[in-house]
Amino acid sequence: MKDTYKAIVIGTGPAGLTAAIYLARANMDPLVIEGPEPGGQLTTTTEVENFPGFPQGIMGPELMDNMRKQAERFGAVFHRGWVSQVDLSKRPFTLKVEGQKDLMTESLIISTGASAKLLGIPHEKANIGRGVSTCATCDGFFFRGKKLIVVGGGDSAMEEAHFLTRFASEVHVVHRRTELRASKIMQDRAHANSKITWGLGLAPVEVVSHDNRVVGLKVKDQQTNDERTIEADGIFVAIGHHPNTGFLQGQLETDEKGYLVVQPGSSRTNVEGVFACGDVQDRHYRQAITAAGSGCMAALDCERFLDQLESC
Ligand code: NAP
Repeated sequence: MKDTYKAIVIGTGPAGLTAAIYLARANMDPLVIEGPEPGGQLTTTTEVENFPGFPQGIMGPELMDNMRKQAERFGAVFHRGWVSQVDLSKRPFTLKVEGQKDLMTESLIISTGASAKLLGIPHEKANIGRGVSTCATCDGFFFRGKKLIVVGGGDSAMEEAHFLTRFASEVHVVHRRTELRASKIMQDRAHANSKITWGLGLAPVEVVSHDNRVVGLKVKDQQTNDERTIEADGIFVAIGHHPNTGFLQGQLETDEKGYLVVQPGSSRTNVEGVFACGDVQDRHYRQAITAAGSGCMAALDCERFLDQLESC
């Protein structure tokens, strides 16, 4: 491996891979660092029906695999590693990769995406993989004929609940308010599904387990303050995502929810030579196609930056 790269891309979801395709095709020899979830969130979905160009739909992992091959075809090099820290105070920027030697780069594209939020209630973390999940498409299959709880009142919760009715005997949606946050179309679809039942105005208090398996969720009625346990074999937490920016340790400007701020109409962050694309900077659209589009923008912004550097 080289010591100093012209461009490094961190993250291999649709944003990072699109940036890699564009950079590689422009002979920028990008190094693409893939973390613990190569391919990003799309590798945990099943069929993607709304990515243009696939009239019959395409499986999420296959789409990501195609994008990766496309980047490799033009010379992008992939490297497995966990970037624990970066130093953006001077160029070339330094990246600390756990257990490996430091990497240096003249420019950086951050496309580290967003991860599912947890409720932070007792026994939740300890039961991940034992009945608590944040991914219906990954784990729904294991709950054939079982009763499930989905926590959340947004579009993700409606989508997960609807999907889980393929397997479960009943999906009980638990939401802390009596009004759902989800869009009307998603609410309507969930309400029309007879396998979905509703527990509104209930705040999750504690995951209840027995013999290392989830058996229910303790909830508090927000009006009466009464607590009770709703029995279920699995709990799917669908309360949104948080952007993966921990490794930046505050070196880039973020909004109040922690998403990276880019200059309007561009992928430029507040540090020259550092660009952001995909869900790490987008809390509104969060679609594969918008992530890919922003990855293209980041690559073009980065190319322009490198061209200017060379001509100086
Ligand atoms: P979201 O809209 O932020 O909704 C999160 C839900 O979780 C809210 O109902 C919130 O309750 C609840 N929640 C948050 N923290 C909680 C906690 N600690 N305890 C209990 N409940 C908690 O997130 P999202 O559903 O992931 O959607 C994010 C964006 O992606 C949205 O723009 C959405 O439209 C989009 N999206 C679209 C689709 C689609 O169109 N197919 C699918 C998924 C997501 P409150 O309502 O009380 O705040």
